[in-house]
Amino acid sequence: MESALSPRRLNELANSQRAENKQLFKKLKRLKPDTLDKLFHEAHGKEFEKFSCLTCANCCKTISPIITFHDVERMAKALRQKPSVIVDEYLELDSDGDFVFRVAPCPFLQPDNRCMIYGSRPKACREYPHTDRKRMHGILGITLKNVEICPVVYGVVERIKAELRSSSSN
Ligand code: SF4
Ligand code: SF4
Repeated sequence: MESALSPRRLNELANSQRAENKQLFKKLKRLKPDTLDKLFHEAHGKEFEKFSCLTCANCCKTISPIITFHDVERMAKALRQKPSVIVDEYLELDSDGDFVFRVAPCPFLQPDNRCMIYGSRPKACREYPHTDRKRMHGILGITLKNVEICPVVYGVVERIKAELRSSSSN
């Protein structure tokens, strides 16, 4: 299992690929939905074979998931608190009116990169980085941004580039 790229190294690599990735994503927009999903899902599976999120936790350190009311209820149960206490202590509304964690790194991230509420974590945490989702067309914009946050997404995008290069040369 490989260690994740350091945030600094990821940032350098993502910066160096930014223009190329923008062009790539324009091409990806034109692919059929099934073709696009297949490209992402295969690359996602291969990248997660290499990485353990425990060597990284960059998402938990730098961005907040959107937190639904169901998430609040689940977290409250796990922490044996009232939902209103979870909201008051840990959450704030972002500019879109969604609940997010008030601070980063996430208050539930432990020093060994484990999540203190892993079994009850928000749905968006379970689904991040979303590169195995159906209908990738709908989240291409956020996926391009995630190249700069998540080493797996960076790797997925590099794999897709290689795959497209090899299929166009055949
Ligand atoms: S999902 Fe990505 S950013 Fe988050 S811990 Fe795993 S590899 Fe790191
Ligand atoms: S709740 Fe857990 S998985 Fe979600 S951001 Fe916090 S530490 Fe990470």
